[in-house]
Amino acid sequence: MRSYDHWINGAPYSRNETSIERRSPAHGRPLAAFKAGSKADVDVAVEAARRIFDSRSGWPDWPSTERAGVLQKLAGLMEKNLEQLAVIEAEEVGKPIRFARGEVAGAIELTRYAAALAWQMNGDIFNHLGADKLGLVTWEPCGVVGMIVPWNFPLVTLFQKLPFALAAGCAVVAKPSEFTSGTAMEVAALTSEAGLPAGAFNVVTGTGSDVGEALVDHPGIDMISFTGSTIVGKRIAARASAQVKRVALELGGKAANTVFADADLAAALDGVLFGMILNQGEECCAGARLLVEEKIVDRFVEILVARAKKVVVGLPLDERTDIGALIHRQHLEKVLGHIARAKEEGATIASGGERPCTAELADGFFVEPTILAGVTPGMTAFREEIFGPVLTVTTFRDVEEAVALVNDTTYGLANGLWTKDIDRALQVSRRLRSGTVYVNTYLETVPQLPFGGFKQSGLGRENGREGLLAYMEVKSTFMKLGERTAALPHTI
Ligand code: NAD
Repeated sequence: MRSYDHWINGAPYSRNETSIERRSPAHGRPLAAFKAGSKADVDVAVEAARRIFDSRSGWPDWPSTERAGVLQKLAGLMEKNLEQLAVIEAEEVGKPIRFARGEVAGAIELTRYAAALAWQMNGDIFNHLGADKLGLVTWEPCGVVGMIVPWNFPLVTLFQKLPFALAAGCAVVAKPSEFTSGTAMEVAALTSEAGLPAGAFNVVTGTGSDVGEALVDHPGIDMISFTGSTIVGKRIAARASAQVKRVALELGGKAANTVFADADLAAALDGVLFGMILNQGEECCAGARLLVEEKIVDRFVEILVARAKKVVVGLPLDERTDIGALIHRQHLEKVLGHIARAKEEGATIASGGERPCTAELADGFFVEPTILAGVTPGMTAFREEIFGPVLTVTTFRDVEEAVALVNDTTYGLANGLWTKDIDRALQVSRRLRSGTVYVNTYLETVPQLPFGGFKQSGLGRENGREGLLAYMEVKSTFMKLGERTAALPHTI
């Protein structure tokens, strides 16, 4: 079993507090122990971060190209340790190892991209304000950032934040999920090896109520960057407002894949299935709602059901596995409860709906990929984030109805469109109220494109140039040049 202390000021740190044990969601055996941190640990971590941020010649004063060099080294070290990081991620989350490798590769790519952005940081000069005046607009790191991340993509959700904040010159105190802290701890040790100065990245493990709230309330934290559920995000925003603390929120979603009759149906089937099963459906952008044009629904769902039945539910480290285990028992019960409720409300189960019954999976929190047909907008399954491998099927007759259905949600993170008519794709995508629209593909990501939510899916953007600017303050410096020739306008 792996055992970790916190990571503070460039080294493991512990006050011998109790540990949180993580057992495998796939078979119940112990995997890791993380320290159950408290406000006292957060105080020590924030002090270390403040020291490196506030000191003369601290991390923000390093040339940004040297900060980029550290990030490049970190990316190289993560690449060297890719398999080990992927195994930890797969075991702790319960996700298939094939996808865990992709997640680590994604985190490495984000690190390299943020390093490249660090080379291009500059502000503006205003030299036409009058012969004796000059204005400078400079971008400065916003300070010490508290990062709170969830369990579904522990590494990527952290890396949509961490390399960007470090590139900007911020210092960081991160709190991973209490279920999946392993990769954050491993990467913390790699940051030292990469040459990151002590205190620039600290990790305090523990629960949201003990460590998360202490971070949000701490006066030494200038910004909270949170990824997680909408309900917790609202609580954090309300708490942080007491200090007018900067907050970035990446929250829940209820994405729709909309398939028009003219689409390349083979491609649409691939995309819809992938959007449903990726990460066991524990994915903020999961294509949880299928909206399909009425005239093709029977044929489309028939093939989709046949494909869903071939999806391999299995152990995380088995290379054949498509869907692993859900994160914990309570979440499994929530997902099964949603399926039962959908039936009560009038949906039909076209596929799945049960726990798989093989002996190998008997001790894990597995659920079959489930397709719920005949779902209408009034049903709970259409509206709430289920966060499992569950797809609802709803039909539409025309573009107007499709757009209304897609937007009929409090969320606005991502949506997918499938059509060969590029005019329609562009016109419809403009009308969708979400931060990302995929056209004839689903869940492909590149670091250049900003990511974030409309409506209750969040505030702010990660990735892209916006992902760097999120960690910067803008400062205007107004200068008078030469001898004073006239009094200030307001001089009395
Ligand atoms: P969660 O909100 O329960 O927890 C997220 C993190 O917040 C964890 O580290 C948790 O310990 C911490 N936390 C919990 N209560 C807290 C509090 N009161 N104060 C401070 N911190 C607190 O979410 P989860 O169950 O870990 O993750 C699933 C959710 O995350 C889903 O809703 C999913 O859509 C969302 N998510 C969003 C994105 C995105 O980029 N928009 C990405 C991944 C996951």
